[in-house]
Formats: sequence, structure tokens, C-alpha cells
Amino acid sequence: MPDPNGFLRYDRRLPARRPVPVRISDWREVYPPAGEELIREQATRCMDCGIPFCHDGCPLGNRIPDWNDLVRTGNWDAAVDSLHATNNFPEFTGRLCPAPCEAACVLGLGGQQPVTIKQVEVEIADAAVARDGLRPRPASVSTGRSVAVVGSGPAGLAAAQQLARAGHTVTVYERDDAIGGLLRYGIPDFKLEKQHIDKRLAQLTAEGVRFRTGVEVGVDVTAEQLRAEHDAVLLACGALQGRDTPETPGRPLRGVHQAMAHLVAANRVVAAAGDGKPAPATLPDGTPIDAAGKHVVIIGGGDTAADCLGVAHRQGAAGVHQLDLYPQPPGERDAERDPWPTWPWVLRNYPAHEEGGERVFAVAVQEFVDDGTGQVRAVRIAEVTVEKVDGRRIVTALPGSEREIPADLVLLAIGFEGTEEQPLLAQFGVTRNRRGAIDSRPDWQAADGVFVAGDMHRGASLIVWAIAEGRAAAAAIHTYLGGVGDLPAPVDPARQPLAAR
Ligand SMILES: Cc1cc2nc3c(=O)[nH]c(=O)nc-3n(C[C@H](O)[C@H](O)[C@H](O)COP(=O)(O)OP(=O)(O)OC[C@H]3O[C@@H](n4cnc5c(N)ncnc54)[C@H](O)[C@@H]3O)c2cc1C
Ligand code: SF4
Repeated sequence: MPDPNGFLRYDRRLPARRPVPVRISDWREVYPPAGEELIREQATRCMDCGIPFCHDGCPLGNRIPDWNDLVRTGNWDAAVDSLHATNNFPEFTGRLCPAPCEAACVLGLGGQQPVTIKQVEVEIADAAVARDGLRPRPASVSTGRSVAVVGSGPAGLAAAQQLARAGHTVTVYERDDAIGGLLRYGIPDFKLEKQHIDKRLAQLTAEGVRFRTGVEVGVDVTAEQLRAEHDAVLLACGALQGRDTPETPGRPLRGVHQAMAHLVAANRVVAAAGDGKPAPATLPDGTPIDAAGKHVVIIGGGDTAADCLGVAHRQGAAGVHQLDLYPQPPGERDAERDPWPTWPWVLRNYPAHEEGGERVFAVAVQEFVDDGTGQVRAVRIAEVTVEKVDGRRIVTALPGSEREIPADLVLLAIGFEGTEEQPLLAQFGVTRNRRGAIDSRPDWQAADGVFVAGDMHRGASLIVWAIAEGRAAAAAIHTYLGGVGDLPAPVDPARQPLAAR
């Protein structure tokens, strides 16, 4: 029986982040561990609601009130089991999820403070590692059926683990030189240290999952070869087609790059440095893309932009501006626009925003300005209004509002346009839809025996959705292969985030 007065006795509290001057001098995670006393206190705030709305916010169906109570009572082993019953990788979501469950928590009603669900989750996830080092759970019997998973992000890895534990032989194909998808080279270490991925991979390997890196399916191995070798294929290739702005004058200038080029280059040098000091980041052709000593302008307002901001400060940028097309969101939920328990449009201050830089809202770049040598020296911006007309976005510049911001390095973090156009698609007989995603039937098949999950199916989304889709697609593959019993399927392909109708 949970403590009925917990939320009256304790305010919401999170562990203090590491001080800014310390954390921007290294690449370690921003949050230190919470400590058992704090986390048990915070879990005590959960009311174990008759209708736990937190469940509706989470596509995984995490048993949040159950594990809150297990943590409150110090029953860590049971909490670990309860959390892993619905989530293969809580160490990723606990660190990285924007926590739609917290937006839906009943304690958040009327502007109050929701339970620190995500912090409780990460502490349970870390307890699992501390207790038994993520003990492998290999299948006791092999089905003799084999599955190829293409892409090793959270969707592919969740599906691989579910299928291997059900007794299927699973091979994950990844074109990069390391496993993890965006977790590996997209998301910086200060949000997710890569040791967490490596520990999980050791568990998957011990459970029988085979990994083949440096293999681009559609190029190094054909779809036909894969189909001949395996009984089913899961495509989980992400949504990595970065949106660009080719019509903006000056786009071809040196120093104007896609944000992902910057993040991947930075993550690679951090990975190569180990505990040593990372070298300056460069593109694969040797072009420098390091922010050290530079005036950096980041265009975009989401996760990717915030990650570029944190990276720029750690590389020693002279100054950073982050430009957003939209006006500054309100500090609190506008209940008329986004009633509880939906995900609200509010100003999100990531830890990277504490570290410096200036955010400029309601502006659009009119031109990348040449320094006379083909290198960008500034961006010319104008204040704008944005309207939606018949579903189309109309951006109008305010006359006379133009000004320049100095820029030696410009990073485009303006979103993604779905999965990349690549040879694999035609070989498997699938095509991108209007949003650049791959549609599936209700049983997750995009073509006979070819399943699809994660960002490749949904469009650029979140890790929690990738894991949920990976689990659900694994359940469909298990049924397709005639497996005994059912695997959990937390979502169907049409499921959407909680929204006001
Ligand atoms: C910079 C950035 C920061 C983010 N931060 C967060 C965050 O804090 N929280 C959050 O919840 N979400 C975040 N996201 C979103 C999240 O990372 C994605 O939603 C999630 O990784 C999608 O998982 P996935 O498995 O579908 O695809 P991905 O993680 O994109 O993995 C797809 C993999 O497929 C591989 N691949 C593609 N084609 C082939 C081929 N032909 N052969 C072999 N391999 C192939 C790719 O190399 C890649 O490794 C962020 C995204 C970005 C870009
Ligand atoms: S909605 Fe909040 S208070 Fe209620 S069960 Fe979920 S976490 Fe606990």
C-alpha cells in the first residue's frame, strides 16, 4: 500500500547537475547518480492512482506505479524485474526520454509537480547493472528459425533481444563501424556515456545475437542474399535524411553543415580518445568541423540543436546563437491548447542551455553571408511570423527587421525528412511515403516477410517509441515464424502519442 501522503510531505527534487564549468571541460554525463535516500523519497510521492495516466503517456506501457512502490520499500530486485518486463533498455530511456509519462502524471495537474518517473527509472536501471551486471537470459530451446535485423538503433536492438530470447537465431547488420544507431554516434556522451550501450551489447551477445558491423545492406549484401539466408527480415534503418535549405542564398559556403555531420564527427573523436583529450573533429574527408574558437550559429530548436549547443561549448566555441523559427513557447502548459495529460508545447530548457549561448526566437535565415573567399562569415536573419494555412507553413518576414549575426560555423538542425533513399528499399520492394517513412500493414510487414519498425516506420521520433515498435515488430515476426506463445506488443503500427482530439 503506497504512502497516501507522500506527495504532501515531499516536493519534487532531482539530483543537482554537475557544475557547468566542470562539466563543459569534459564529456561525462551531466547528472550524477541520485543516491538511494533521494530516490526512495521521490518514489514515495507516487499516489498509485486508480487510473494511472502516466501509463497513457508511455508507449511501452511501463508499470510505473508498481516500480515506484517497489523502490519506495527498497525492493530493488523486484523493481528491476518489473521495469524490464516492459522495457529492454531502461538505461537509455531513463537518461534520454523527454518523459511523456511525467507530462501525463496526475500530480502534474493544475501546474503541480509530477513524480520524477524518469529519475526513478534510471536509478532502477543502474541498480540492475550494479546487482548482476545485466545477467543474460538466453533461450532454453532454439526454434531453428533465423531473422535478419537491418539497423542497430534502439528499434533493431529491442527486436533482436526479444527474438533471441524467444529462441530465434538473430543477426544484426549495421553499416557503421559500431553498434547503437543514433545512440552511438548521434547523441553525445554528456547525455549518454557509451559504456551503457556496451554493457547491453555484452548481454545481447551472450544471449546469442550476432552482430555484423560495416555491412551496408543493399550494397555489401543484397536483399536477395539476406532473404535466402534468413526466414524473416526486420528493417530498422532510422530516419536519417536531414532536412536542408538549398534555396537559401549562400548555402554552398564552407562552414555551413548539417548538424549530424558535426555531432557524428565530435562523437567519433570522443570515442577514439577514450579518457584522453579528444582531438579536433573533422569530416571523413579531413575538413575541420570543430567549434573551437568559432562563432557558431545553430539553426533549429529541438534535441539535435541542443546537442550541437552542448558539443560546441565543450569544443570551446567563442560564442553560440541558437535560432528558432517559432516564437518563444510559454513557461507553463497552455491548457486551452494542450490540455493535461497531453504533451505540452512549453519552453524546454535542456542542460545544454544552462551552459551558455543565446536563443533567438521567431527568426529565419535570409542568407549565409560570404567572407569573400567562399567561407561563411555571418548569417543574415529577419524576424518572422509563422502561420499554418491548409496544413502548409507560411513564413512571413517583417520588413526592416533584418540583421547579421557573426558565424564561422553554421549547423542545420532543422529536422529530418524520413528514411534515406538507398538501394535497400527497391531491393526489398518498399517505397517511401509522402513523409519519407515506410508504411506497414497492421502486422508490421512492409512486404511479404519484410517487417519495419522504429524511425524508419514512424518518421523521426523518440527512443521510447523505437523500443516499443521494435518489441511489437518482434512479436509479429515471432507469430509469422510460427513461434510458440505470444511476445508482448505494446503498440500497433497506427498508434499515435496521446493528443487532444
Ligand atoms: C542528435 C539527436 C539527438 C536525439 N536525442 C534524443 C533524446 O534525447 N531522447 C530521445 O528519446 N530521442 C532522441 N533522438 C531520437 C532517437 O535517437 C531516435 O528516435 C532513435 O534512435 C530511433 O531509433 P531507430 O532504431 O529507429 O533508428 P536509428 O537509431 O537511427 O538507427 C538506425 C541504424 O540503421 C543503420 N542503417 C541504415 N541503413 C542501413 C543499411 N542499409 N544497412 C545497415 N545498416 C543501416 C544506421 O547506420 C543506423 O545505425 C535524437 C535524435 C538525434 C538525431
Ligand atoms: S500518474 Fe503519477 S502519481 Fe499516478 S500512478 Fe502514475 S506516477 Fe504515480
